[in-house]
Amino acid sequence: MSPSNFASPIPASLCAPLFAPLTSLRGVGEAVARLMARAIGGSRVIDLLFHLPESWIDRRARVALAETVAGELATVQVRVERVEPPGNARQPTRVVVGDASGFGELVFFRRWPEKRLPPGEEVLVSGRCDEARRMVHPDYIVPAGHPEQMPWIEPVWPLTAGLFAWHLRKPVAEALSRLPELPEWHDPALLRREGWPGFAEALRMLHAPEAPPPPGARRRLAYDELLAGQVAMAFMRRRVRGRPGRALAGDGTLRARALAAFGHALTPGQEAALAEISADLAAPRQMLRLLQGDVGSGKTLVAVLAMLQAVEAGAQAALMAPTELLARQHHRTLEKIAPVEVALLTGAVTGKARAAILEGLADGTIRLVVGTHALVQEGVSFADLGLAVIDEQHRFGVEQRLRLGGKGTRADVLVMTATPIPRSLLLTQWGEMAISRLEGKPAGRQPVRTTLHSLANLPEVVEAVARALERGARVYWVCPMVTESEVLDLAAAEERFRDLSARFGAQVGLAHGRQDPEVRAAALADFAAGRTRLLVATTVIEVGVDVPEASVMVVEHAERFGLAPLHQLRGRVGRGGEASYCLLLHTAELGETARRRLALLRDTDDGFRIADEDFRIRGGGDVLGTRQAGQPGWRLADPGQDEGLLHMAARDAELLVEHDPKLAGPRGQAVRVLLHLFEQREAFKTLRAG
Ligand code: ADP
Ligand code: MG
Repeated sequence: MSPSNFASPIPASLCAPLFAPLTSLRGVGEAVARLMARAIGGSRVIDLLFHLPESWIDRRARVALAETVAGELATVQVRVERVEPPGNARQPTRVVVGDASGFGELVFFRRWPEKRLPPGEEVLVSGRCDEARRMVHPDYIVPAGHPEQMPWIEPVWPLTAGLFAWHLRKPVAEALSRLPELPEWHDPALLRREGWPGFAEALRMLHAPEAPPPPGARRRLAYDELLAGQVAMAFMRRRVRGRPGRALAGDGTLRARALAAFGHALTPGQEAALAEISADLAAPRQMLRLLQGDVGSGKTLVAVLAMLQAVEAGAQAALMAPTELLARQHHRTLEKIAPVEVALLTGAVTGKARAAILEGLADGTIRLVVGTHALVQEGVSFADLGLAVIDEQHRFGVEQRLRLGGKGTRADVLVMTATPIPRSLLLTQWGEMAISRLEGKPAGRQPVRTTLHSLANLPEVVEAVARALERGARVYWVCPMVTESEVLDLAAAEERFRDLSARFGAQVGLAHGRQDPEVRAAALADFAAGRTRLLVATTVIEVGVDVPEASVMVVEHAERFGLAPLHQLRGRVGRGGEASYCLLLHTAELGETARRRLALLRDTDDGFRIADEDFRIRGGGDVLGTRQAGQPGWRLADPGQDEGLLHMAARDAELLVEHDPKLAGPRGQAVRVLLHLFEQREAFKTLRAG
């Protein structure tokens, strides 16, 4: 960002000292700077300032020697009586000290601070005493006449091997002194209401406190960070959603025929989502929409109808699935209901068949295609792609999502996900997209009764499964996937397969991620067709096996799964008309948090609630296994604690950008500084673009 880009009376160079390298701080050489960078995750002054202490040691409790409590932190004012040098190299130096209440000892096994402890001197000493009023290696010794030298409230920064607090103390103080006079970017009414300090003051309160910092200090900085991110998001949203695109209205004929072929009416949730999508398609802007719907909510039908709208309008439509298996499954679904031919393009389609499909896509004779990543590879070109639907897809970043739309002339993009995305992540990672929530499920779906069982009761669970099989039920038995050791996982699944086969014979199947794809597909097909009725599997089934007859699911070591994936798994049963059950088996020694998590899953079927909770428990970074590149995590804000602030920031940002889209007003000007501090370059791109 060069200052000229600011076009504002507040020069960006104001912040320049904060972006100087750490080595520009006195006493910080290359080696220390490297250590610091490891701990603070950056190599500039601002990174040090944003490296907030995790706690503060309060040394203000001053007591008499006689009142010290063993093991507790105390600060005493004492007189140095005498020094007792060690008798031999292994013994410590002992310094006898006293006050009006009695005597004690300061004990030094290593170098002792001789200059600080001349006999007769009055000193302030802070540290922990034992029962005998011995303080081994006190934390601080300062002359009694200079109490200001004692860090009464001492910040504890997160450190790394080889880096000590004393490495940070002076550089942090110098960094604080470099803080320029910055305009306030927050609404004064908000600051008053929350009782928040200013930006620089908050940093001082945390890094160099004179009193324990009020919670408002960190919250204010968290809000700074969140607001900067949300303002950038709001700009991106404006930019992305304003992109010109095709108007794909259609006349409804293909859709009507497809619905007739499907044979059921749309659910109200499907109607609502489809109305939003349909309006987007018909509008002359590029659609970028996320369709969120729980497993089994009927997203596929919505996607098919959207694709047919594009086809009615004379364009092509493509559906991209993350796996071969899912692509084939979607292909079958589409073939059943779409009144036009549907091509399938995956890595497994090769030779002449592949060439024919590529040709059909290029000359436009193929109007509908389902596939995997193969669809977006070099050499695949479309005559006129109008709509790209991406299923179960949370592994792409913003730019990639846009690029997929680029296969056509600004094709509309619909992303479907069965992972209910926590609201916080929608705001931070999907904020450029319009969101449709597919609520409710097709009638006839039974809620899945979920129960918790200790693995110690495994025999009873096996009996329950036996009874279910006798009733004719089809059962999934899921063994956990512990990524550190695929081999062990496999062993566990294979062993369970042997045990259950011994008991239930040939009706048991096995499917896992390391099988030959053909073998696995056959195992899944056997189960789908009812040739096997108990399927032992690792989480390969998570990604979309649709066997409506399956009505029982057993999950071993459920405590090892995230809540969201467990909920996904559970969605594999309860798809038919039958009463369905999910048995979550957990280790006998289940911790309190783990128990609460599983209980939540037992007690609710609301995927959105589960996702929000999972987010809170696991933190924002990895709910979807997707910390996105180029998107640093929060440094000051905390996903668990600050969710409320995030939603506040989102509203605040939306209003700000709506009222002052050029950030030209006084607050807008100040917000530019904020964006600069938090390096939200994307926002400036949009501002410059117009
Ligand atoms: P999702 O992809 O959201 O997990 P699917 O699209 O696979 O859900 O739909 C789940 C099941 O519900 C499928 O068997 C599908 O045929 C059925 N289904 C979808 N919509 C309806 C509807 N409106 N009425 C009846 N059944 C439906
Ligand atoms: Mg699906």
